[in-house]
Amino acid sequence: MTDIVVSSDGLNAAIRAILAGAGSNEREQKLVADHLVLANLTGHDSHGVGMLPNYIASAREGRHKVNGKAELVVDAGALMTFDGGTSYGQVVAFEAMTLAIERVRQHGVAVVSIRNSNHVGRIGHWAEQCAAAGLVSIHFTCGFANRTLVAPFGGTDARFGTNPFCAGFPRPGEEPIILDFATSKIAAGKVRVAMNKGETLPDEVLLNAKGKPTTDPKDLYVPPTGALLPIGGHKGYGLAVICELFGGALSGGGTWTKAKLGRKVNVNNMFSIVVDPARLGGSEVMAEEARNFVEWVTASPPADGVERVLLPGEPERQRKRKRLAEGIPIDPNTWGEVLAAAESVGVARTRIGQVAGL
Ligand code: NAD
Repeated sequence: MTDIVVSSDGLNAAIRAILAGAGSNEREQKLVADHLVLANLTGHDSHGVGMLPNYIASAREGRHKVNGKAELVVDAGALMTFDGGTSYGQVVAFEAMTLAIERVRQHGVAVVSIRNSNHVGRIGHWAEQCAAAGLVSIHFTCGFANRTLVAPFGGTDARFGTNPFCAGFPRPGEEPIILDFATSKIAAGKVRVAMNKGETLPDEVLLNAKGKPTTDPKDLYVPPTGALLPIGGHKGYGLAVICELFGGALSGGGTWTKAKLGRKVNVNNMFSIVVDPARLGGSEVMAEEARNFVEWVTASPPADGVERVLLPGEPERQRKRKRLAEGIPIDPNTWGEVLAAAESVGVARTRIGQVAGL
């Protein structure tokens, strides 16, 4: 079966209609739909509208809060802790970053931890929010779902999540540099997308339940389940540990232990540092040095099969331009799950097709 292709506006309208059916107010509909559709636009289908069926099931079963907010539980000026109260992460992280940006205007820096939020989605979204305000940011994220997904370096079974690391660097008059990746060799959602499409995975990404290498994406989703491997051997594993400790221990949101296995949640904790480069006293030097370095590094002669050296954040912008022009492809399994989610909250499949412009 071939992918359906839908415009970003049509997809946004469809997602909002489903969220409205599940009781979200207009603001929540907008924040969640804009986030998911932007994830698809930037090519991160793993964090796009394919997440919605999970969100809707969790909202219907009362596992996360609809129309909630980020509660500021520690307010020490430049230092803040938010409790998400299991509300939509797209709302909680937006509110936390919005206040962080305000505080950076006062103090030059804000150190923010978020605990107990529902899934905060594509972390680059939050670095982009900071970069749009001219601010540098670093984000360490971890989370809990009903099970662990990634094996430690040297281990054979899953002990923690895909713990993304993200950093954003604004460039006056130019697009920001946004580095945003899971510390597993592949994001778990991308394994789900591969499974839905009937594709196999690259070598050395996944272990099966016996701790042996496999290329079958079902080995991550169909019990007995295996484990993803961390990026970059011991170094990527070390970064994942830091994401868990900064995101989970510093925020008070918690880290993975055996006792947390089996809980029906999809919670994220995130620790962010947001800095105003102008307040560090060198924003002109910063802009010039960034320009010089970018010119130098991207002038490296491209390897065979590579058109040109790209900067972190560029592939996402390239895909966004293409998908805005040509539409967003969605595989039939994912679209079927989205339609089933609509039906589960009393929104007819035909209505979703209509609002999506299909
Ligand atoms: P990925 O492997 O596609 O890597 C993305 C990063 O690498 C981006 O910064 C991108 O610009 C850069 N990049 C890619 N190709 C490049 C090239 N040729 N040259 C220069 N830079 C390049 O990302 P991923 O690991 O699959 O993660 C996907 C998304 O999943 C991320 O947005 C991440 O935040 C999200 N995620 C979220 C959670 C969560 O719990 N909320 C968990 C895991 C992942």
